[in-house]
Amino acid sequence: MIWQSPISPGTSLYEATVPERPPYPTMPGSRKADVAIIGGGYTGLQAAYNLARAGTDVTLIDACRFGDGASGRNGGQFGTGQRAWADEAEEALGHERAQLLFGMAENAKRYVLDFAETHGIDIEFVPGQLSVSHKKSLEKDYRNHVDAMAERFGYPHLTFMDREETVSRLGSSHYHFGIRDTGTGHIHPMKLLVGLAKQAALAGAKLFEQTKALKIEKQGGAIVIETTHGTITADRALIACNAYIGNLEPVTASHVMPIRSFIGATTALSDHPEVLPGGESVDDSRFVVRYFRKSKDGRLLFGGREAYTADNPRDISSHIRRQISEIYPALANIEITHAWGGSVGITMPRQPFYREVIPGVTTIGGYSGHGVMLSNYCGKLFADLTLGNKTELDLLGDLKIPAFPGGMRFRSVLLFLALSWYALRDRF
Ligand SMILES: Cc1cc2nc3c(=O)[nH]c(=O)nc-3n(C[C@H](O)[C@H](O)[C@H](O)COP(=O)(O)OP(=O)(O)OC[C@H]3O[C@@H](n4cnc5c(N)ncnc54)[C@H](O)[C@@H]3O)c2cc1C
Repeated sequence: MIWQSPISPGTSLYEATVPERPPYPTMPGSRKADVAIIGGGYTGLQAAYNLARAGTDVTLIDACRFGDGASGRNGGQFGTGQRAWADEAEEALGHERAQLLFGMAENAKRYVLDFAETHGIDIEFVPGQLSVSHKKSLEKDYRNHVDAMAERFGYPHLTFMDREETVSRLGSSHYHFGIRDTGTGHIHPMKLLVGLAKQAALAGAKLFEQTKALKIEKQGGAIVIETTHGTITADRALIACNAYIGNLEPVTASHVMPIRSFIGATTALSDHPEVLPGGESVDDSRFVVRYFRKSKDGRLLFGGREAYTADNPRDISSHIRRQISEIYPALANIEITHAWGGSVGITMPRQPFYREVIPGVTTIGGYSGHGVMLSNYCGKLFADLTLGNKTELDLLGDLKIPAFPGGMRFRSVLLFLALSWYALRDRF
């Protein structure tokens, strides 16, 4: 029977195509650990894997099943760099820090690919990414970005695509121009997640599903986590709940907000060889980004619709099909076999949030749509830091990430209004 995530809507194509998704037990009762981790997505599981293989006694719990959050349900696109373009970050942070943050994301990319290769995890990596513009007015920015990346950030894999090249690589005349990135690509998110959990368990991490953290606090010298299945007492803890934090910990909740994003998978496009003949993934210039790619078996995976409240849209498929048909009119009646969604954790400046929220308790999240590679790497860096090594996490710690305004009561309302306004501007 196919599992349905209780915290994210719809059954994903990944869930339906992953060869196995072994269950893990619930926590059998109270226990002690050197390090406790809350959240079994990429961040938490990478931390658990890296700590356990260094001999640390680590316990990880997830309220649902591993991957029920964003890590098992995302678009699978690596992207390049942080969410904000490195040359934009340069203006706010100066060249040196922008370069370091960009370098960190490149390390993240390499880390995930090496991790999968080392452990023989078939993540279905396909190279190539096209970033395309729906507005003519952005041409200068796109051209400058390509030059800046090569000249100032030492990244030689970008080329500007004129309209003709954009049309032929997409198989669509919807966009004006774009950038081709041959230094990145896309993956099957759930295969990575399942392989990662397996490696963490093999390394000796104690992994428990369907065990929810209800409260976390410092008592004397120890961190005490009250859960639905007993208490964990630990020396240190990592909160890796990202957009699914709820009201477990207020500092994380005020800095990392959930935006719900939805994806649809079509039947295989065997009659449409013109669609993405090179197999690249695509993201566009809209505020509500449309992101799409073909799966290994030739379906179109299309993400775009967003929601800023907790309600699920009534019909994800129809909405996604409408967006597909704007770009590919020939697919206006294509069948959507799977439609699903999940919560992306964003921060105000769209940079990751890393902070010690209680002495000994660290939170990491808010990758703002670039978490496939960054969350894996940040989990690994948390382990390195806990083992006493200096890491690039300091770079994130230095970033100024303000809380979303509005306090507990009005934060979601204000975010809804602000995001709806920006989303509206996509239409003009
Ligand atoms: C639809 C969608 C498309 C996306 N597309 C892309 C993309 O193409 N490229 C990209 O780079 N990024 C993308 N992202 C973002 C990316 O998936 C995330 O940044 C990344 O997976 C975050 O991993 P994580 O481990 O930090 O959080 P998650 O994977 O969200 O894991 C958090 C976990 O915490 C658990 N949890 C929460 N509260 C508790 C509690 N109280 N007790 C115990 N457990 C708890 C949840 O059950 C969940 O499993 C997308 C996200 C979504 C939703």
